[in-house]
Amino acid sequence: MATRQELLNAREQLHIAIHAAEEWQDSYKASPITFADLLRLEAALETAAGEYLHELADRAPSYVDWSRLPEPIKADAGPVANNDDPVWKQEQILLTAAVIDIITDLVATGAVAGETLYGIPIGYSTLEFASLDEAIMQAARKHTAQMVSNVSETTRKLIRESVAKSIALGENADFATVRLMNVIDNPIRAQLIAQTEPVNAYQTGLKHYALQTGAKEKTWDGLSAACQICSPLIGKTLPIGDLFVLANGREIDRPAGHPRCRCSLIYIY
Ligand SMILES: [Zn+2]
Repeated sequence: MATRQELLNAREQLHIAIHAAEEWQDSYKASPITFADLLRLEAALETAAGEYLHELADRAPSYVDWSRLPEPIKADAGPVANNDDPVWKQEQILLTAAVIDIITDLVATGAVAGETLYGIPIGYSTLEFASLDEAIMQAARKHTAQMVSNVSETTRKLIRESVAKSIALGENADFATVRLMNVIDNPIRAQLIAQTEPVNAYQTGLKHYALQTGAKEKTWDGLSAACQICSPLIGKTLPIGDLFVLANGREIDRPAGHPRCRCSLIYIY
């Protein structure tokens, strides 16, 4: 029988093929080498996030004081470990360790793609070389910290909701534990993380390249079939330091505009 690792490897290959066929904005595909890197890293991120959640499912029940059920769930107290509990810090360390190298390579891939797209040399002709750049590593750390903080906030919310549901249904601790583990071990959530963060990280690297090489403006590059949130921005040009305003009012300096966004930016020199 295949091991979990063999199954994960097979799934990664399948996902590279599936995601390559998605509607990526053309500039992502302009360099076949960086596009291949992007897809490979996206698949690796999905595996890393999925494995983290799979293992978290075993730990999550210990973050609930089951003896206090059916005491109601409150925002930062009640049967679920509160927001200041050291267990969440530990979870953030584990998730950071699982994803930081992949995120760093994604940021570096964006910078390498910049060199390929715009042809102004900065010395990032390979992923390895760009990964060693201190500014890129710093951007990757910042990016990872933000992503990890969002994921752990969602995790706490999911745990509270699951326990609240068990209380509402009058479940005993055994049933409630099974419910909680199923909620946490969710490959769809890993997929959502992996289909949003690579665009964020890649665009961070591309922006870094554009700033380093003196770009002056940026144009939103999206697909006409893109979602309603991004479509009003397509073709809009702004000074490089300005923010785009999404249809939902959120201000961003670059894609991703929303989960699963595949938009890009074209920099103007
Ligand atoms: Zn978009």
